[in-house]
Amino acid sequence: MRLFTFACPMCAADRQRFSILSALARRPKKLCRGCGIVLRSHPSIGVYLLFLLYTQFIGLIAGLPLIWAYMEQQWMAMAALWVAALLLCHVPAMAMHARGTICRDKVDPDRSYVRAKKQASTHDP
Ligand SMILES: [Zn+2]
Repeated sequence: MRLFTFACPMCAADRQRFSILSALARRPKKLCRGCGIVLRSHPSIGVYLLFLLYTQFIGLIAGLPLIWAYMEQQWMAMAALWVAALLLCHVPAMAMHARGTICRDKVDPDRSYVRAKKQASTHDP
């Protein structure tokens, strides 16, 4: 099951993923390996808001043990709590971006809204 990877919507190059460090951003960017176009995730504001609430919940749960570990100078417990909290926040973010809408970062420069000029008609009077 592909949870963290996606295919480029332009060239269908498969097995691409957003980096784990950029996953917390609302619209992380990724350079396609196939066509070289910059892609970005485009999650809806509701999904991203739910994700932010989830990260706040994780921070709330991990906060008190982190304070305890700091007060007791349990540095290994503190590091383990940091790693667990970061993994619990970044890994779902990677899945959210990979499974959501992915689009071009910038509009295609070759795209034109101007209608093509009509060809000179051969049956003019
Ligand atoms: Zn591509």
